[in-house]
Amino acid sequence: MTHAELWERHKAVMPNWLALYYDEPIEIVSGSGRRVTDGEGKEYLDFFAGILTNAIGYDIAEISDAVREQLASGIAHTSTVYLIRRQIELAEKIAELSGIPDAKVFFANSGTEANEAALLLATQNRRSNQVLAMRNSYHGRAFGTVAITGNRGWSASSLSPVNVQYVQGAYRYRSPFRDMPDAEYIKVCTDDLRNVIETTTSGDVACMILEPIQGVGGFASPPDGLYAAFKEVLDEYGILLISDEVQTGWGRTGEHFWGIQAHDVVPDAMTFAKGLGNGFAIGGVVARASLMDSLSANSLSTFGGNPISTTAAKATLDYLLDHDLQANAAKRGAQLVDGLRGIAEEYPELGDVRGKGLMLAAEIVNAGDAKPDPAKTAKLQQEAKNRGLLIGKGGLYGNVLRMAPPMTLTEDETTEALEILRDSFGTLR
Ligand code: PLP
Repeated sequence: MTHAELWERHKAVMPNWLALYYDEPIEIVSGSGRRVTDGEGKEYLDFFAGILTNAIGYDIAEISDAVREQLASGIAHTSTVYLIRRQIELAEKIAELSGIPDAKVFFANSGTEANEAALLLATQNRRSNQVLAMRNSYHGRAFGTVAITGNRGWSASSLSPVNVQYVQGAYRYRSPFRDMPDAEYIKVCTDDLRNVIETTTSGDVACMILEPIQGVGGFASPPDGLYAAFKEVLDEYGILLISDEVQTGWGRTGEHFWGIQAHDVVPDAMTFAKGLGNGFAIGGVVARASLMDSLSANSLSTFGGNPISTTAAKATLDYLLDHDLQANAAKRGAQLVDGLRGIAEEYPELGDVRGKGLMLAAEIVNAGDAKPDPAKTAKLQQEAKNRGLLIGKGGLYGNVLRMAPPMTLTEDETTEALEILRDSFGTLR
């Protein structure tokens, strides 16, 4: 079967709202290290790590061996109504790493489910369905998580089951306050949060949910400390803080293991998914025991925390920690930022370079007036692909290139990617 036939079959049977990359999406058939190969034999450096899912890369013996061993033992028995050794070990490790005192962990299968579980906990705990979320946020694609998604491209929030208000501050580059010094920016956003609580809610808000660096929203990054200032206000009103670490967890931001730690804040709960299973589906919530145990109705997830996914996740987490991939993310991230800033000096179309560690964005604008330029962004993504580099795209206006390679990225691969990016920018002339 040709690639064109496969694409036709896809279109005939899959929903047309599935967000795919490229006019002619590729089929990835194999991978090794940080490289993947498509159905026609072309090799690419994967600078998006799946969708930040393959945190470590492809064909990692430690993970394949652990999963194979688990399968060989016959314990592919899948239910969560019995004790699961790997699940308990993984929960202990995540609870310890979370920094949340007296933490407990609930496992699900995705980021969406993790956030749904966190919303359920917070709204039940506070007996309120009022929630604060950030503008330009993305939290998932189920009924509750779509409602708290403050990015119009991904949300149909007029059908919301949650009473949600969106707060200013995460997307500084397109904020009216962007040129303020950090301290002033933090003050106006925090004043706005207080204003939103006092003037648009009845006062009994259950929780606020935020991404420390917004993922789908184009790796939009607020100044460090913003969420510490938010937390003080939330504490005054008894509002719980949930940090959505689906993209920012596991050391990807380089400086810290969890993105929220850049703000020197311990949230009431964190949600996680994506990179933890290095390709196996797993997500979850880690929260204070008093919050986690406050559900009064029965609940479980049939697949969440099953023996196979928790085995893959435990092996991934051990690998991440044993190889100190957080430190590698910091080093390679600094190299990439240097290179991207160099490109920005030559190409005013590269309006903003932002992010942390191996979670970096290049916002593409109309040279001169900073208007979003989604057409040039799509061209750059395509040109990079033609040259063997897969990068992500996103942002409210579809004008942000997103780079989040596997955290095992090497110095040579970073140099190679920067050369491809520079050549791709060269096609704009
Ligand atoms: N939260 C964040 C920050 C995300 O980036 C995503 C997915 O991109 C989700 C939640 C939803 O995760 P999933 O697609 O695994 O349901």
